Amino acid sequence: MKKEILDKIEVKRGDVTKLKVDAIVNAANVSLLGGGGVDGAIHRAAGPELLKECKSIGGCPTGEARITKGYNLLAKYVIHTVGPVYKGTIEDSRYLTNCYQNSLRLAVENQAASIAFPAISCGVYGYPIQDACRIAIDSTCNFLKTNESVKKVVFILFSTEDLKIYNDYLAKIT
Ligand code: ADP
Repeated sequence: MKKEILDKIEVKRGDVTKLKVDAIVNAANVSLLGGGGVDGAIHRAAGPELLKECKSIGGCPTGEARITKGYNLLAKYVIHTVGPVYKGTIEDSRYLTNCYQNSLRLAVENQAASIAFPAISCGVYGYPIQDACRIAIDSTCNFLKTNESVKKVVFILFSTEDLKIYNDYLAKIT
Protein backbone atom coordinates (compact mmCIF):
# COMPACT_ATOMS: atom_id res chain seq x y z
CA MET A 1 0.00 0.00 0.00
CA LYS A 2 1.25 3.51 -0.85
CA LYS A 3 2.84 5.56 1.91
CA GLU A 4 0.55 8.57 1.24
CA ILE A 5 -2.46 6.38 2.06
CA LEU A 6 -0.96 4.61 5.07
CA ASP A 7 0.19 7.95 6.53
CA LYS A 8 -3.45 8.93 6.93
CA ILE A 9 -4.17 5.86 9.08
CA GLU A 10 -3.59 5.81 12.80
CA VAL A 11 -4.17 2.82 15.06
CA LYS A 12 -4.42 3.23 18.80
CA ARG A 13 -5.89 1.83 21.97
CA GLY A 14 -8.53 3.75 23.88
CA ASP A 15 -12.12 4.89 24.16
CA VAL A 16 -13.74 6.29 21.02
CA THR A 17 -15.95 8.64 23.06
CA LYS A 18 -12.86 10.57 24.20
CA LEU A 19 -11.53 11.39 20.75
CA LYS A 20 -11.33 14.86 19.31
CA VAL A 21 -11.97 14.13 15.65
CA ASP A 22 -14.59 15.51 13.27
CA ALA A 23 -16.62 12.30 13.35
CA ILE A 24 -16.68 9.15 15.44
CA VAL A 25 -18.36 6.03 14.15
CA ASN A 26 -20.87 4.12 16.24
CA ALA A 27 -21.43 0.36 15.95
CA ALA A 28 -25.20 0.80 16.07
CA ASN A 29 -28.06 -1.63 15.62
CA VAL A 30 -30.85 -1.40 13.03
CA SER A 31 -33.18 0.45 15.39
CA LEU A 32 -30.63 3.23 16.08
CA LEU A 33 -32.18 3.39 19.54
CA GLY A 34 -29.01 2.62 21.46
CA GLY A 35 -27.69 -0.57 22.96
CA GLY A 36 -24.74 -1.93 24.86
CA GLY A 37 -21.03 -1.86 24.10
CA VAL A 38 -19.68 1.10 22.20
CA ASP A 39 -23.21 2.25 21.29
CA GLY A 40 -24.15 2.60 24.96
CA ALA A 41 -20.90 4.40 25.73
CA ILE A 42 -21.44 6.89 22.89
CA HIS A 43 -25.02 7.65 23.95
CA ARG A 44 -23.96 8.13 27.57
CA ALA A 45 -21.16 10.49 26.59
CA ALA A 46 -23.18 12.43 24.00
CA GLY A 47 -26.23 12.91 26.24
CA PRO A 48 -29.98 12.42 25.68
CA GLU A 49 -30.22 14.73 22.68
CA LEU A 50 -28.44 12.09 20.61
CA LEU A 51 -31.18 9.52 21.21
CA LYS A 52 -33.78 12.12 20.28
CA GLU A 53 -32.14 12.74 16.92
CA CYS A 54 -31.66 8.99 16.35
CA LYS A 55 -35.37 8.39 17.01
CA SER A 56 -36.24 10.92 14.32
CA ILE A 57 -34.17 8.99 11.74
CA GLY A 58 -36.23 5.82 12.08
CA GLY A 59 -33.63 3.06 11.83
CA CYS A 60 -30.83 2.04 9.50
CA PRO A 61 -30.40 -1.20 7.51
CA THR A 62 -27.30 -3.39 7.95
CA GLY A 63 -24.32 -2.07 6.01
CA GLU A 64 -25.68 1.46 5.74
CA ALA A 65 -24.82 4.55 7.79
CA ARG A 66 -26.56 7.65 9.13
CA ILE A 67 -25.10 10.85 10.56
CA THR A 68 -26.10 12.89 13.60
CA LYS A 69 -24.58 15.68 15.60
CA GLY A 70 -22.14 14.79 18.38
CA TYR A 71 -23.80 16.85 21.15
CA ASN A 72 -21.66 16.59 24.33
CA LEU A 73 -18.90 14.65 22.59
CA LEU A 74 -15.70 16.31 21.43
CA ALA A 75 -16.52 15.01 17.97
CA LYS A 76 -18.78 17.20 15.84
CA TYR A 77 -20.61 14.22 14.35
CA VAL A 78 -21.53 10.64 15.12
CA ILE A 79 -21.80 8.36 12.11
CA HIS A 80 -23.98 5.40 13.03
CA THR A 81 -23.35 2.28 11.00
CA VAL A 82 -24.94 -1.13 11.43
CA GLY A 83 -22.50 -4.00 11.16
CA PRO A 84 -23.58 -7.55 10.36
CA VAL A 85 -24.26 -10.12 13.04
CA TYR A 86 -21.53 -12.64 12.15
CA LYS A 87 -22.91 -15.81 10.59
CA GLY A 88 -19.84 -17.10 8.76
CA THR A 89 -21.26 -16.45 5.27
CA ILE A 90 -19.94 -14.42 2.33
CA GLU A 91 -22.57 -11.77 3.03
CA ASP A 92 -20.84 -10.82 6.29
CA SER A 93 -17.79 -9.37 4.57
CA ARG A 94 -19.89 -7.53 2.00
CA TYR A 95 -21.95 -5.86 4.73
CA LEU A 96 -18.91 -4.99 6.81
CA THR A 97 -17.15 -3.48 3.77
CA ASN A 98 -20.27 -1.39 3.10
CA CYS A 99 -20.20 -0.11 6.70
CA TYR A 100 -16.70 1.35 6.24
CA GLN A 101 -17.39 2.72 2.76
CA ASN A 102 -20.73 4.28 3.64
CA SER A 103 -19.34 5.83 6.84
CA LEU A 104 -16.42 7.36 4.95
CA ARG A 105 -18.78 8.62 2.24
CA LEU A 106 -20.89 10.40 4.87
CA ALA A 107 -17.74 11.94 6.32
CA VAL A 108 -16.85 13.35 2.91
CA GLU A 109 -20.37 14.68 2.32
CA ASN A 110 -20.25 16.49 5.66
CA GLN A 111 -16.72 17.88 5.30
CA ALA A 112 -15.43 15.72 8.15
CA ALA A 113 -11.69 15.40 7.50
CA SER A 114 -10.93 13.15 10.47
CA ILE A 115 -12.90 10.08 11.48
CA ALA A 116 -12.47 7.35 14.10
CA PHE A 117 -13.74 3.78 13.88
CA PRO A 118 -14.14 1.24 16.67
CA ALA A 119 -14.02 -2.43 15.60
CA ILE A 120 -17.51 -2.61 14.05
CA SER A 121 -19.28 -5.97 14.66
CA CYS A 122 -16.40 -7.33 16.77
CA GLY A 123 -18.22 -7.24 20.10
CA VAL A 124 -21.60 -8.88 20.65
CA TYR A 125 -22.04 -9.27 16.86
CA GLY A 126 -19.21 -11.81 16.96
CA TYR A 127 -17.14 -10.94 13.89
CA PRO A 128 -13.64 -12.49 14.20
CA ILE A 129 -11.27 -9.57 14.77
CA GLN A 130 -8.59 -10.77 12.30
CA ASP A 131 -11.04 -10.88 9.39
CA ALA A 132 -12.77 -7.67 10.45
CA CYS A 133 -9.43 -5.87 10.75
CA ARG A 134 -8.47 -6.83 7.19
CA ILE A 135 -11.82 -5.58 5.88
CA ALA A 136 -11.62 -2.35 7.90
CA ILE A 137 -8.14 -1.45 6.68
CA ASP A 138 -8.53 -2.66 3.08
CA SER A 139 -11.84 -0.91 2.50
CA THR A 140 -10.55 2.28 4.11
CA CYS A 141 -7.36 2.28 2.02
CA ASN A 142 -9.39 1.72 -1.15
CA PHE A 143 -11.65 4.60 -0.25
CA LEU A 144 -8.74 6.93 0.52
CA LYS A 145 -7.21 6.24 -2.90
CA THR A 146 -10.07 8.06 -4.60
CA ASN A 147 -11.09 10.56 -1.90
CA GLU A 148 -8.59 13.17 -0.89
CA SER A 149 -10.81 15.11 1.53
CA VAL A 150 -10.47 12.62 4.40
CA LYS A 151 -7.08 13.41 5.94
CA LYS A 152 -7.04 11.12 8.96
CA VAL A 153 -8.67 7.80 9.85
CA VAL A 154 -8.21 6.48 13.39
CA PHE A 155 -8.90 2.86 14.29
CA ILE A 156 -9.46 2.84 18.01
CA LEU A 157 -9.26 -0.51 19.75
CA PHE A 158 -10.38 -1.35 23.23
CA SER A 159 -7.89 -4.12 23.99
CA THR A 160 -4.13 -4.55 23.51
CA GLU A 161 -4.83 -7.86 21.72
CA ASP A 162 -6.99 -6.13 19.13
CA LEU A 163 -4.45 -3.31 18.82
CA LYS A 164 -1.72 -5.84 18.02
CA ILE A 165 -3.84 -7.47 15.34
CA TYR A 166 -4.34 -4.10 13.60
CA ASN A 167 -0.67 -3.13 13.93
CA ASP A 168 0.46 -6.50 12.60
CA TYR A 169 -1.84 -6.22 9.59
CA LEU A 170 -0.66 -2.68 8.84
CA ALA A 171 2.97 -3.82 9.06
CA LYS A 172 2.16 -6.63 6.64
CA ILE A 173 0.74 -4.34 3.96
CA THR A 174 3.32 -1.57 4.37
P1 ADP B 1 -21.14 -4.82 17.77
O1 ADP B 1 -22.56 -4.97 18.24
O2 ADP B 1 -21.05 -4.14 16.41
O3 ADP B 1 -20.36 -6.09 17.86
P2 ADP B 1 -19.95 -3.78 20.25
O4 ADP B 1 -20.21 -2.44 20.84
O5 ADP B 1 -20.45 -4.97 21.00
O6 ADP B 1 -20.52 -3.72 18.75
O7 ADP B 1 -18.39 -3.96 20.03
C1 ADP B 1 -17.65 -3.41 18.98
C2 ADP B 1 -16.21 -3.23 19.42
O8 ADP B 1 -16.10 -2.01 20.14
C3 ADP B 1 -15.65 -4.31 20.34
O9 ADP B 1 -14.36 -4.65 19.88
C4 ADP B 1 -15.59 -3.63 21.70
O10 ADP B 1 -14.52 -4.13 22.49
C5 ADP B 1 -15.32 -2.20 21.32
N1 ADP B 1 -15.71 -1.14 22.26
C6 ADP B 1 -16.62 -1.16 23.25
N2 ADP B 1 -16.69 0.04 23.86
C7 ADP B 1 -15.78 0.85 23.24
C8 ADP B 1 -15.35 2.21 23.39
N3 ADP B 1 -15.88 3.00 24.33
N4 ADP B 1 -14.39 2.68 22.56
C9 ADP B 1 -13.85 1.90 21.60
N5 ADP B 1 -14.21 0.62 21.39
C10 ADP B 1 -15.15 0.09 22.21
